[in-house]
Amino acid sequence: MEKRDFGNTGLRTSILGFGGFHLLEIPLAEARVLLNGYLDAGGNYIETAFGYGDGESERKIGLSVSHRRDEYILVTKTGERGRQGCLDSVNRSLSNLKTEYVDVLLMHAVGTMEDLDAILAPDGAVAGAEQAMREGKVRFIGLSMHGQPDVLVEALRRYPFRAVMTTINYYDHFNFPEIEETLLPLANAKNVAVILMKPVADGLLYRSAEPAFRYAFSQPVSVVVGGINSRAMLEADLSYAEAFVPMSDEDKEKLYRDAPELGNYVCRQCGKCLSCPEGIDMPEIFRLEGYYDRQMADGTVTDTADFALRQRLRFWFGNNGMARNLYRDLSVKGDRCTECRICMPKCPYGIDIIRKLGIADYKLADKDIY
Ligand code: SF4
Ligand code: SF4
Repeated sequence: MEKRDFGNTGLRTSILGFGGFHLLEIPLAEARVLLNGYLDAGGNYIETAFGYGDGESERKIGLSVSHRRDEYILVTKTGERGRQGCLDSVNRSLSNLKTEYVDVLLMHAVGTMEDLDAILAPDGAVAGAEQAMREGKVRFIGLSMHGQPDVLVEALRRYPFRAVMTTINYYDHFNFPEIEETLLPLANAKNVAVILMKPVADGLLYRSAEPAFRYAFSQPVSVVVGGINSRAMLEADLSYAEAFVPMSDEDKEKLYRDAPELGNYVCRQCGKCLSCPEGIDMPEIFRLEGYYDRQMADGTVTDTADFALRQRLRFWFGNNGMARNLYRDLSVKGDRCTECRICMPKCPYGIDIIRKLGIADYKLADKDIY
């Protein structure tokens, strides 16, 4: 399996990483099979968090593969924001994982500037992680966050984190475009390792796993972490990694155009409709709809399982309050649309812009009825 530099740490990671969250869904005996199978196939990156089942995921990893500790790069996370809490969390994680050290400790889900201020305070979690480094319990410090990347961008400017974990997939490419436009170039310029999570958008792209992984592997990232909870999934994910050929820009454009999950609802942010006589900025409103619920509620129910999955995932990242605040500040909102239809034929993706504006305005302006 291809290996890549893990930023400037001197580590090299297999392009497919093993994400430990879904170990909560399977018994220890099956976790043993999957984790050892992954290592046997050449994988070397295992990631978890204390917060996954209050240490259960960590304990399953410790019981399954701690006897092979020199074969993998081990990453865990702490949700603590203070120095002592972080130190206690590291000690608990090491005990769960049956190891003397983790390679990377990620500050978990640093979602607000207040979180960032807290972890970087003199008595914050990063100070605790630095002490754990001096004690040989942690080798490198990073941080993670879902969705909109403002806080991660600010974090990389304020502290020399060695790794950053973020959401990248071809679906959320259109909901959080700043990740690929701003965060990735900044991390690459600083030689900070990028850990890609959610290559199949929390399961939304399950029917398109092969192109989804190919898209993810094609990003300038160190490792793509997949949540693996079955032998069939392990086999499939390994096969995608082994067969990986980078996507060209043309390949990506074709995927953006044809992907069934994007269909004729998700705005591709191309700007070709921008000539509204009312001054409505449609791609901006649809970008805020992406922040709000990843453009997942489209006003139609065609497949029950898909509908249920979207309902479960749409507020997963918790950016909806921020989206409503940003929408409130727009001087021209979606309800100014006069349905003149000038924009409609201009959308290359067949989006019913008038209808979508109504749905986005309903969501973002917190209206009672659509
Ligand atoms: S249909 Fe609505 S959004 Fe489109 S150009 Fe006319 S007023 Fe603007
Ligand atoms: S033309 Fe279509 S895809 Fe492009 S910005 Fe407008 S609505 Fe979005």
